[in-house]
Amino acid sequence: DLQLKGGNVRFDNVNFGYDSDRKILKNISFEVAAGQKLAIVGASGSGKSTLVRLLFRFYAPTSGRIYIDGQNLANVSQHSVRRAIAVVPQDTVLFNDTLFHNIHYGNPQASEQQVYAAARQAQLHRFIEQLPQGYQTLVGERGLKLSGGEKQRVAIARALLKNPSILVFDEATSALDSHAEQAIVHELQQLSSNKTTLVIAHRLSTITDADQILVMDQGRIIEAGSHEQL
Ligand code: ATP
Ligand code: MG
Repeated sequence: DLQLKGGNVRFDNVNFGYDSDRKILKNISFEVAAGQKLAIVGASGSGKSTLVRLLFRFYAPTSGRIYIDGQNLANVSQHSVRRAIAVVPQDTVLFNDTLFHNIHYGNPQASEQQVYAAARQAQLHRFIEQLPQGYQTLVGERGLKLSGGEKQRVAIARALLKNPSILVFDEATSALDSHAEQAIVHELQQLSSNKTTLVIAHRLSTITDADQILVMDQGRIIEAGSHEQL
């Protein structure tokens, strides 16, 4: 299993393709020190979400290595990697289950009170309490349809409940109103304090406080540096 020591993340010359005839990631190398914040920007289709899927061990690199706290992901259990990382994805998948269970999924050991606390922090509690069936409301394909922003808040609540060493936030590209944007940025700051954070960013406000910014284009890192340097 993965032994966590703060959450240092390192990609060493990683290459990847979903199929053999098309390379999606090309010679990706970078390092994020424990507790630091990395922002990744780049055009749609440049490989940002793919990079996150490799870190979460959904897929393995075609060549190259990925390390967390010096341990090659290829040599540790998938289960222990997924326990260490929480991902707030671009498109959150909700299960055909209650809102309560959809949040609780983030950490099956959490108490009922912790689920409510996470929902509060994710600015979701008031919305849920207004629903006739509250936390017992069924969502997903066969239940209540939530907006993109509401679904992302469910994912944020899940991530808060998990309290991981490494947090990945794949910002949705869809336009949010400025109020919702501010709320998300605020939640993100709460979520990311003292954690290694990777943000796939579309908003300038989430990039300005990053320790390091990577610019991706067609599967390559074409620029890297701080906000001042770029
Ligand atoms: P966006 O900003 O739109 O979210 P992205 O940088 O996250 O884009 P990725 O989702 O990583 O881009 O996709 C990179 C490339 O990989 C795209 O050309 C896409 O078509 C391809 N791709 C993504 N997921 C898969 C998949 N499951 N199978 C095959 N190809 C895929
Ligand atoms: Mg993406």
